[in-house]
Amino acid sequence: MTLDSIQVSLKERGVRLTRQRQILLELIDKTGAHLDAERLYQLAKERDPKINRVTVYRTLKMLKTGGLVDELDLMHYGGDQHYYETRVKQEHAHVICLRCGKVEEFFGEPLQRLRKQIESHFGFQVLLARTEVGGYCAHCQTLRARELEELRNHPPEPAAPAAGTRASRSGAGRAPARRA
Ligand SMILES: [Zn+2]
Ligand SMILES: [Zn+2]
Repeated sequence: MTLDSIQVSLKERGVRLTRQRQILLELIDKTGAHLDAERLYQLAKERDPKINRVTVYRTLKMLKTGGLVDELDLMHYGGDQHYYETRVKQEHAHVICLRCGKVEEFFGEPLQRLRKQIESHFGFQVLLARTEVGGYCAHCQTLRARELEELRNHPPEPAAPAAGTRASRSGAGRAPARRA
């Protein structure tokens, strides 16, 4: 599905594509990223200062119900946030780094094969499939190995109440990395 065909589809359903809706659709489609509602709102505001949160949330809901936009949770890396992408791309799996939050898209034949196997195995008619894979990206594997190594060499002192008790963003329970 192309962005144009999304617009046609909306029109057929009698949904008026207002300027603000158009802005949102374009943002979701063109960035190619997986943005959450708040980020979309911020970006939309740069284009149209009059846009408000309610419009953004309503529009996202409308696009989602209409099957024009996919809502993802990306393994809940960012908590309860949801992320959006248009259904214009070929089916793909999301590969999420649980440490830095980087999202890669895996396209490829194995996904179609999986679909077919599920259909024949269960006699099931697959309408949509969403594949998410969580783990550590190459960069984070290196950093983690280094951190673990440092932890082995310098075990943390029995915890004195830390000055800054702010939880580290990238992993509860991880001891703060020491700089060598
Ligand atoms: Zn990473
Ligand atoms: Zn994607």
